[in-house]
Amino acid sequence: MLLSVVVPCFNEEKSVIIFFDEIYKVLNGLDMDWEIIFINDGSRDNTLANIKDLSNKLKSIKYISFSRNFGKESALYAGLKKSKGDYVVVIDVDLQDPPNLLPEMLKIIKTEDYDIVATRRVSRKGEPVIRSLFARSFYKLINALSEINLVDGARDYRLMTRPVVDSILELDEYNRFSKGLFEWVGFKTKWIEYENVERAVGETSWSFWGLFRYSIDAIVSFSTIPLSISTFFGVLFSLMSFILILFIIIKNILYNNPVPGWPSTICIILLIGGIQLFSIGILGKYLEKTYIETKNRPIFIIKETNIDDE
Ligand code: UDP
Ligand code: MG
Repeated sequence: MLLSVVVPCFNEEKSVIIFFDEIYKVLNGLDMDWEIIFINDGSRDNTLANIKDLSNKLKSIKYISFSRNFGKESALYAGLKKSKGDYVVVIDVDLQDPPNLLPEMLKIIKTEDYDIVATRRVSRKGEPVIRSLFARSFYKLINALSEINLVDGARDYRLMTRPVVDSILELDEYNRFSKGLFEWVGFKTKWIEYENVERAVGETSWSFWGLFRYSIDAIVSFSTIPLSISTFFGVLFSLMSFILILFIIIKNILYNNPVPGWPSTICIILLIGGIQLFSIGILGKYLEKTYIETKNRPIFIIKETNIDDE
């Protein structure tokens, strides 16, 4: 039995070393073989050098280094693709995903009838309030708009069996929202809960704006309902204007009263113009995704690695 540990890293020169110490203790206590796959996602610091040092000491430490920063989603995909384990666990390098949960997760997946053991944090302690608020609203929105059901606070930290990994790898789309993809493939999931842990060292690479764009991408990836919004407004406004026209005609016949109504006219023109642009914007978003997807570009480009594909 082999366990693959997939670890995406972006500018994590310090985390890599602390992380390795922690996970090594845990992995050594297991009664199975393991490999660690570090994915250096175009770091600009000494992350790669530190990973190479580790891999020189231990054969079971593998690495993939990208030609530039492709994002965590691409790093995960690359790691899963290169993993050989019967079980695969995806884990952050900043120790926000506690390695000491791993033995329990393995026990569950081996002895109980589950294909995935996933984790969720039950608190967002240590996170800015406004960020938590937006995060919560995002989960509500995407669950309402799409078929998948995302669990609030779910982490990417999860242990999967080989069939699950293979089915995720079959989803080789370019716009990857992993949390959604993990849910989309199905299988039986056991959730483990834990309190939020703050980063060991370094800073999160997510800005507020970055997260906002990420949520829009996620919604576009998993729902087409926004496209219907324009149709809805179209019908609504056609109906309203039809009623309004009837009203004006009747009023004119009865009272013959050419009322000056510039301000209201302008308001309505602006409103309708705004809604039209909004709708075109939504349409554009989907077109953009389709455009990128049809180019069929690779999800990542490897600059160097110590994994040889046979
Ligand atoms: N990461 C990555 N590529 C990126 C951004 C992040 O591989 O472009 C990795 C990062 O090194 C870490 C994990 O993804 O292991 C989660 O990143 P981070 O801690 O910045 O996100 P947060 O925990 O705040 O959601
Ligand atoms: Mg983190």
